[in-house]
Formats: sequence, C-alpha cells, structure tokens
Amino acid sequence: MSSASEAALLAKVPDRLFIGGQWLESSSGKAIDVIDPATGLVIKTIADASVADAALAMDAAAAAQDGWARTAPRVRGEILRRAFDLLQERADEFALLMTLEMGKPLAEARGEVTYGGEFLRWFSEEAVRISGRYGSNPEGTGRMIVTHLPVGPSYLITPWNFPLAMATRKIAPALAAGCTAIVKPAELTPLTTLYFARLLEDAGLPAGVLNVLTTSAAGEITTPILADSRLRKLSFTGSTAVGVRLLKQAADNVLRTSMELGGNAPFIVFEDANMDKAVDGAMLAKFRNIGQACTAANRFIVHESVADEFAARVTERVRALSVGRGTEDGVTIGPLINEGALDKAERLVRDAVDRGATVLTGGGRIEGAGTFFEPTVISGVTPGSAILNQEIFGPVLSIIPFTDEDDAVAKANDTEFGLVGYVFTEDFARGQRLIETLQTGMMGLNVGVVSNAAAPFGGVKQSGIGREGGAEGIHEYLETKYVLTPNPFA
Ligand code: NAP
Repeated sequence: MSSASEAALLAKVPDRLFIGGQWLESSSGKAIDVIDPATGLVIKTIADASVADAALAMDAAAAAQDGWARTAPRVRGEILRRAFDLLQERADEFALLMTLEMGKPLAEARGEVTYGGEFLRWFSEEAVRISGRYGSNPEGTGRMIVTHLPVGPSYLITPWNFPLAMATRKIAPALAAGCTAIVKPAELTPLTTLYFARLLEDAGLPAGVLNVLTTSAAGEITTPILADSRLRKLSFTGSTAVGVRLLKQAADNVLRTSMELGGNAPFIVFEDANMDKAVDGAMLAKFRNIGQACTAANRFIVHESVADEFAARVTERVRALSVGRGTEDGVTIGPLINEGALDKAERLVRDAVDRGATVLTGGGRIEGAGTFFEPTVISGVTPGSAILNQEIFGPVLSIIPFTDEDDAVAKANDTEFGLVGYVFTEDFARGQRLIETLQTGMMGLNVGVVSNAAAPFGGVKQSGIGREGGAEGIHEYLETKYVLTPNPFA
C-alpha cells in the first residue's frame, strides 16, 4: 500500500460534522488530531463538536423524525440496500481507512467491511417485516391490535475497536425501524463513521435522518443530549464503567437503552476436545483484532490432562504470528490502540507472573515507533491474578487448568461479565449442558467466532442489556403499541 494512495483516501474523508444534511465546522473552532497507532503520526485533523453542535444535531434528528417514520418501509430498506451496494464498491477504501486509524491488519479490516456490510443488507430486509397482530380479547368483547412504531430519535455511541461494524450494527436497525439518529464515534477512530455518513448521503438518505458528532468531549456533549425530552433511545457499545454511568443518566429521562458492554470470555477446552479445532478456535478467539474485541477469549480454561499439549500447540502458532503495520503484506498482528493499552497488557502479564504463571512466549511491549505488544502465551495462571478479572484487550493468551466439568463451569462463571463463552468438546450432551450452565448471552460450541448479522448479539450480567442483529435487533428501535376496539358484531 503506497503512502500516495493512503493520502488520496484520507483527502476524500470529510473533516466536518454531519448535521441536518450539511457538513459543518465545529462552532468552537476546535479540532481533533487522528493518529495512526502503527506510527504515532497524525493522519487527519477533524472538527471537534461542542455542546452547541450537539444541540443542532438534536434539533436536526427531532425535525426529521416524523418524515422518516412515515417514509415507506420499502423506501427505507432500499436506501439501506443501496448503502450495502456502495459499501461493496468502496470496500477497499473502508478497509484501508480502518487499518490507518485503528491499526488492524488489512485482511481483518476487509473482514470487518463484510461483517459490517451485512447489517445493512440484513436490516434492509427487516425494514419491510415489521409486523403486528390482531385478534379477539379472551372475553370476546373487543378486538386487540398490537403494532410496532419507531421509538424516536436515537443516540448511538460506538467504540474504537470495530469502527465500521459497531456503527452499522446500530445505524442500520435504527433507520430500518424509522428512527432518526445522532451517532458519536470514538475520538480515536472517527474517520470511518464520517466516511460512512458520506456513503449514506450518496445512497439517498434524507437530511437530518443521520447526524454525526465527532468530539473530544464525549461526556460534555452527551449529558444534554440524554437530558433532552425529544431523545427516546440510547444505544451504547463500550466499557461497562462508562455504560453504568450512561444508564444512570438515561434513567432520568426514562430512555429505552441497549447496552453492549465489556466481556471476559471463557474458552473451555475439555479433555475430549478435538485439539486441532480447539487450537484453530483459540487463535481466532484470541488474536482477531489484535485481541481487542469484547468477544476476545480472555481466559483459557483447559483440562489439566491436556493443558500442556494445548499450551505447546498454541505457543507454536503464536510464535508464527507476524507483527507490524497493518498495511504491510503478511502482517497478522497490528499495534494496540494506544500507550494506555500497552501499559495495561504489560501490567496484567507482570501481575500473573508475580503470582506464579509462566511466560511461554512474548510477554512485553516492542520498543520503537507505534504501540506494539508481543503476541504472548502464559500458562499456569493462578486464582486471584488480575488477568482473570479484567479484559486484557491485547494479544495475550492466558491458560488456567481445571479438574472436572463442575470446576470448569465454576471458573468460567466466576466473573461479573457474561458476553460470550467458547466450549470445545466432542461430547454433545456435555455441550448441551454447557449451553444451560454457562452464564453468557452467546456461546461458540467448537467454534472461535460467533458474530453474525443474522444472530442476536449481546450479553448478560454486566456485559449488557439488549441484542443487536438478528430478528431481535430491529425491536430495540421499536415501541409496542396496543389498541383495543369494541367487538364489531356486538
Ligand atoms: P469506552 O471508553 O467505554 O468508550 C466507548 C464510547 O463511549 C466511545 O465513543 C467514548 O468516547 C464514549 N464515552 C466515553 N466516556 C463517555 C461519557 N462520559 N459519555 C458519553 N460517551 C462516553 O470503551 P472503549 O475503550 O472505546 O471500547 C472498549 C470497550 O468496549 C471494551 O470494554 C469492550 O469490551 C467494549 N465493547 C463491547 C462490545 C459489545 O458488543 N459488547 C463491542 C465492542 C467493544 P471517546 O472515545 O471520545 O472517549
């Protein structure tokens, strides 16, 4: 990838706020520098939204709401379908943009374009399937109508780790349901959302239906938006700590909320597992997105009789990973997002080692430009280690042994999180038991990735509330209305 093609792409990405169908400068005149984590260099400078800009975006979303809700579902679906088609045409651009602002290897960024695009296609199809029901009440005295109406203007907050997919996973169902929206991408990776807003404009989305606020003052601009009585919905993807704070604010305005929060996924390998499948699954579940995924396997809970074999085989695979800038051929591990992420990975490994774990490969940061961490395997992690309770969000695979199924389940459930779990066993009855005993919203049975636009994505416990994707996803943006009419024959 040449630096000329990178520059040409970056020049095409809007650097302003998208409000009411217009690309506006920030009213404060402030700007955000967007940095390539592989080099530490500024790649583009964009508008930094203020509270006054947030008020304009709220006005625009509220003004467009009734018109968009009354737009025929087929028309809404066709705009999303055009957006899907345009995304296929611009797939290479979106992939490169994500690699530049977030660091993931290009091949993975292309995978995210496919995954993110599927939400556009899926919800373009769901837009015309919003149904209701009609029937007699049990007494026979009346007729009951149940219908589903758009919730109303929605505020969508997304994280930096999947800049496109986290945006389309919220924007597509909101628009399909007939809701207008304000989207606030992460400060670290705002360019993909801006370029996606341009794509929606090209797909024919009417002015004001989607508004984009890029900002360095997330808390400041969010407080008045959440307090505005015209807002009806908050959808947030990010850390549990921020999610809890936003839930409290949303309560004051009794907002509908969808919260996709942090994870601490267990990856359980039973003694009867197919070891080839388990090792392949582990590499995907751990090292996809440089370990920076809410679904990343955080704890490898492996039966004591196969723990050494599993450790040896994953270590061999991890040593073969190639670290570098994601634009370079053959790179499989890019940089972590920033210095803070490096510090956290380093601190968690050091704590585990201090408590008795062994480093089998890697273990520390890579000195030089960019924020790179060595792909790492540690085994013999002992109870009480911080790495078992916190999201690592980096390329560190940590192994703890277990003795029997009850012990494995107890260890897996010993966390306040409950997003996803991975189970490797050839015993189907055991797999079925784990479906019911593992306290997670999702489970991979002999697979290392579960995400799919057609599936309900989401967690239990402190991993969140609500589901994105699947038939469930559009209902997060629909309100149920019940109507009673008299029996027409009475
Ligand atoms: P984060 O710090 O919670 O930030 C997420 C988003 O919230 C960003 O847009 C951020 O803006 C914004 N934000 C932060 N403080 C805010 C405030 N006071 N008011 C309003 N918005 C605020 O999380 P992150 O580090 O970006 O993302 C990683 C986390 O997301 C991990 O915990 C991961 O597990 C989770 N995640 C969950 C899912 C899921 O589906 N369950 C998917 C992906 C990621 P700024 O960037 O400007 O601070």
